[in-house]
Amino acid sequence: MNAVTEDLSVNKLTPTRLGLAHDFPILARPVHGRRLVYLDNGATTQKPEAVIEAERRFYRESNANIHRGVHWLSQHATDLYEASRVTVQRFINAAHADEVVFTRGTTEAINLVAQSWGRNTLRAGDEILLTTLEHHSNIVPWQLLCEQTGAVIKVVPISDAGELDLDAFDALLSERTRLVAITHVSNALGTINPVAMLTAKAHAVGATVLVDGAQAVAHHKVDVQALGCDFYAFSGHKLYGPTGIGVLWGRAGLLAAMPPWQGGGDMIRTVSFEGSTYADAPQRFEAGTPNIAGSVALAAAIDYVSAIGIERIAAHEHALLAHATAALAAIPGVRLIGTAANKAGILSFMVERIHPHDLGTILDSEGVAIRAGHHCAMPLMTRFKIPGTARASLGLYNDEADIAALVAAIHKAQDLFGTRSTAP
Ligand code: PMP
Repeated sequence: MNAVTEDLSVNKLTPTRLGLAHDFPILARPVHGRRLVYLDNGATTQKPEAVIEAERRFYRESNANIHRGVHWLSQHATDLYEASRVTVQRFINAAHADEVVFTRGTTEAINLVAQSWGRNTLRAGDEILLTTLEHHSNIVPWQLLCEQTGAVIKVVPISDAGELDLDAFDALLSERTRLVAITHVSNALGTINPVAMLTAKAHAVGATVLVDGAQAVAHHKVDVQALGCDFYAFSGHKLYGPTGIGVLWGRAGLLAAMPPWQGGGDMIRTVSFEGSTYADAPQRFEAGTPNIAGSVALAAAIDYVSAIGIERIAAHEHALLAHATAALAAIPGVRLIGTAANKAGILSFMVERIHPHDLGTILDSEGVAIRAGHHCAMPLMTRFKIPGTARASLGLYNDEADIAALVAAIHKAQDLFGTRSTAP
């Protein structure tokens, strides 16, 4: 059933059940003969029928290349692509659609900022402030930039609970800080960073702020103007949309001053062998044929999420997180990693004497899909002196039955390893 037509009045819902799993065809398929319990939403989310259908319909009814054709279909495809940009603009409350650049995803968006804005702005000795919580996508592009410019990286430490050390942030921030690049939500621990407050502090010393929103956009309201940041990056596939499409939002003034990153078709105004001139943003940053169908399907995903209500999704996941945290904490031998006061629906944990990979494999045999490993956050694992964790990450379709299946599968693993406590 389509979420748009379903009666979703709050009164009819228990706090931990939106009842929308049937919108996602893949959730009906069994895995290893079991009901699929999909708890790997931090890696990628499943797609509702509305998104699958939007992509299919684009190829069946609207496919053509954009921005270049004089024919009707090309104009039609261009209109759909640009309408998707407006859908993104409204979703994140950007001031202008031209501030929305389509990319392959968060990773490409951050690399774009590093190589276009960063390479032309940073000088030797300038500082980039990161945090221990960052995903490799928000570390390595800056390391590459440092090699190119002589800029240096400083890192804000975290507490044992996985919260940023705000005193250290204040101490590390200085006139030398040119960029603060922070994750909105930690993919490994779920910590929600106080981005608006950190941005205000960064701006006070004249630093530019990039926010990695990969784990945020699908889980709570993101308003880039309220956050006050300068760049915001996210991926469509973590927002119930397709892979291969993502967004870099940047302030109009910043984008206007940034040189191209990749060259090619669609990003130019004129080309001659003597030299070329470039289109304005966002086209300047969209060289080559983009993921047109992906942008249309991303807009369908945003429409889907918006029809449910992002605040309702946030409330649902928040209640389910509280329930799941209590359920895991009650299992003897389970240790939660990341217990920040302000958390999104991510549960990282260790089970005594069972390696996370073994645990992940046993859970999988029970139909429970979680992630095991370093979660592309190796410095964070080093901080906790662990090789990795098991991670269950929630999406809008998860409910208490999924958490019960997770708990039962952990018990099964403990039984197999002979580590299940018989204590009451
Ligand atoms: N940042 C964070 C916090 C993430 O969780 C991820 C994906 N795991 C990324 C960046 C990279 O996203 P993508 O692979 O879609 O570019």
